[in-house]
Amino acid sequence: MSFHYDTLIVGGGTAGIMTAAQLHQKQPELKIGLFDPAETHYYQPAFTLVAANTYKFEHTSRPMRSVIPHGVHWIQESIVSFQPAQNQVTTGEGNLFTYDYLVVCPGLRMAPELVKGLKDAMDSEHVCSVYTNPLHARRVFEKFKGGTALFTQPTTPIKCGGAPQKIMYLADDLFKKTGVRSKTNMVFATPGTVIFGIKQIADTLMRVVNRKNIFLNFGYKLVEVDSKNQIAWYEMADHEKYHNHNKNVQVISDGNRKGIKYDLLHLAPPQAAPLFVSESPFANENGWMSVDKGTLQSTHYRNVFGLGDVAGLPTAKTGAAIRKQVPVVVANILRLMEADKLTEKKYNGYSSCPLVTGYGKMVLAEFDYENKFTPDPKLKQMLVFDSYKEHWRLWLLKKYILPYLYWHKMLKGKEV
Ligand SMILES: Cc1cc2nc3c(=O)[nH]c(=O)nc-3n(C[C@H](O)[C@H](O)[C@H](O)COP(=O)(O)OP(=O)(O)OC[C@H]3O[C@@H](n4cnc5c(N)ncnc54)[C@H](O)[C@@H]3O)c2cc1C
Repeated sequence: MSFHYDTLIVGGGTAGIMTAAQLHQKQPELKIGLFDPAETHYYQPAFTLVAANTYKFEHTSRPMRSVIPHGVHWIQESIVSFQPAQNQVTTGEGNLFTYDYLVVCPGLRMAPELVKGLKDAMDSEHVCSVYTNPLHARRVFEKFKGGTALFTQPTTPIKCGGAPQKIMYLADDLFKKTGVRSKTNMVFATPGTVIFGIKQIADTLMRVVNRKNIFLNFGYKLVEVDSKNQIAWYEMADHEKYHNHNKNVQVISDGNRKGIKYDLLHLAPPQAAPLFVSESPFANENGWMSVDKGTLQSTHYRNVFGLGDVAGLPTAKTGAAIRKQVPVVVANILRLMEADKLTEKKYNGYSSCPLVTGYGKMVLAEFDYENKFTPDPKLKQMLVFDSYKEHWRLWLLKKYILPYLYWHKMLKGKEV
């Protein structure tokens, strides 16, 4: 069977729902179809709070049906391939759909197979991740009896690059509550060279790391998880260095590899574009959706746009970035429809990372393609004038205000 739509949207996550809502609001007569096989839509930014036992998991989700804008046709099928020369997509059910305009935003996929041993280790007794199962992470944290708690991240791009740190800062507080912090060595191992790419934020985070006595290891590239012996193996980059060295942490050397013995391992798994995108004509050399970094138009097809986590953009993959990407995509599609040209609107790489540094504290990193610190002027209305510092008002923003804005404004197509 074959069906035609003015615009087809692939994915009903943050990017897909916001795009559908804004497009429908601006042009209600458009026939819009949105593909997503999932029954549930998740607000992922609260997953770290769930794992730290300060947010209910039930509050992170809503039925997909309830977030699809009225007037937009939900097609509960998954896309398996694209045929852009025919303006056509194919679903797993074998149905064909044609379009005038296509928006590709199916997010990313977890790729544990990129680290040896990780597939079996993931979500096991001592290994957990807020990315895959925040409730399991909470159970692992609460059962932890002390020893080395290792927090780490992969060399691939990941969504919300700050999450592997936020959960560590929260776990530090949680371990105080469960009475095991004094018996715990907190370790952070990262392939990076610094704790954060913006100087003001990095300065604040280094103060947090010192206060919490966290052993920092830079230049650590995760290559294997040996879950039987509870060792995470790393290849060393040239820029290997340490901060707050802790001699109670067992580090094993093996040629150019180092193994850290853990009693608890929290990690962000490696992440990649979904295969049906990386194997499609839309992909760049790393498999991500290839789009112009200002207009978000496919670099190969004029009537195709990509945004959200799947997009190969040189900025952090976050919902906050999507908030600024959606209006650009919507304006460009509407202008192409009416005048066969793009608008002047450009996405400047804005992204933000709410870095929770403990219960009741947060730093808000906001930046653009140049990694320039660009705090939102609206923060002043909350009496926050220095968001690069820890602030309890920012915690309120994270825990209460942002979820409200997400469900009631952003997903409803309102620009906030
Ligand atoms: C632990 C964690 C903490 C985070 N913290 C923050 C934060 O504090 N601030 C922030 O701004 N962002 C944060 N993020 C990132 C944010 O959640 C993502 O950047 C955002 O959800 C990406 O939106 P998306 O629409 O691109 O993908 P998603 O929201 O992941 O949605 C993708 C959708 O596509 C669908 N799909 C997949 N394959 C197909 C297919 N073949 N056919 C049709 N549909 C398909 C999926 O079912 C899914 O519904 C966090 C994420 C995590 C995991």
